Amino acid sequence: TDDRLIDGDRKPEDADAALRPKSLDDFVGQRQAKDNLRVFVKAARQRGEALDHVLFHGPPGLGKTTLAQIVANELGVNFRSTSGPVITKPGDLAALLTNLEKGDVLFIDEIHRLTPAVEEVLYPAMEDYALDLMIGEGPSARSVKIDLPRFTLIGATTRSGLLAKPLLDRFGIPVRLEFYGPDDLMRIVARGAAKLDAEMSKDGAMEVARRSRGTPRVAGRLLRRVRDVATVEEAGAIDASVADRALQRLEIDALGLDPLDRRYLRLIAEHFGGGPVGVETLAASLAEARDAVEDVVEPFLLQCGLIQRTPRGRVLSASAWKHLGLAAPKSAVA
Ligand code: ATP
Repeated sequence: TDDRLIDGDRKPEDADAALRPKSLDDFVGQRQAKDNLRVFVKAARQRGEALDHVLFHGPPGLGKTTLAQIVANELGVNFRSTSGPVITKPGDLAALLTNLEKGDVLFIDEIHRLTPAVEEVLYPAMEDYALDLMIGEGPSARSVKIDLPRFTLIGATTRSGLLAKPLLDRFGIPVRLEFYGPDDLMRIVARGAAKLDAEMSKDGAMEVARRSRGTPRVAGRLLRRVRDVATVEEAGAIDASVADRALQRLEIDALGLDPLDRRYLRLIAEHFGGGPVGVETLAASLAEARDAVEDVVEPFLLQCGLIQRTPRGRVLSASAWKHLGLAAPKSAVA
């Protein structure tokens, strides 16, 4: 999915620090998550204690990293960031943990990708704020225990089901992030346009918002491309029709689906009679990684009601057939 305009993977241009909200009040949407975090952060501050460990789960690009930074900001502590695949050895994690100061936030993105050996180090660190390390090898090996400052681990994962149970159990504050509604996304787009010094009408922002797959990161990316088209066309303010032309050029359709989404839907329709078909088969036919299909493509299609997950595989719903402009077979599940 490397060249996909609306995938969830981070691209260098997304690391636009200026666009990142710095406080819970600036963070648009996700009301339930914010309300909970506000209470727990306040309690931790009042007691002068570290916040309990937090797990953010939800599709990529919904602001998990941004929220983790905000939590550190609101706690008034340092923010240290790493990710599951980067921590290859237990020693890597030990080095990170021993460098923390009291109350600090350690953010581990893609925490479901930690190796079991690294997880073994993490458990006592999370539970008892202690490191159990083996020093040396063979008969002279001995274990030493190192005390750690009380810290807050914030983990992020696309699906909490990917986490080992003992790890999952050690998070006191699980927070689920949801796809954003059009109104929230419109505020994020308008805010982004202002930061980019792009003139944009309300209906222009709404057009981008409606076609951003419920995902702020996608909205930011589409906004930049829409602005490019407006610049080249010397269109002045970006209104709905400029946005629509730009999005059509990017092959983003009215629902916000991109070519890969449509390929996925058409594959089920044309080769599997509407399903059910297993995700493994779909991923292989699309030449995409199974994870990418499950984490990036499917959640939004499920959310839109275009597909259903059944025990026997994925099934197209009636609205998907309609969206593709195809007639559903008589036997298809509605
Ligand atoms: P995740 O960690 O969930 O994959 P993220 O935190 O890295 O996502 P970004 O991809 O950085 O999220 O989001 C893109 C940009 O969208 C951010 O830089 C931020 O400016 C903006 N953004 C994301 N969520 C919100 C929000 N709820 N309110 C305002 N701006 C947001």
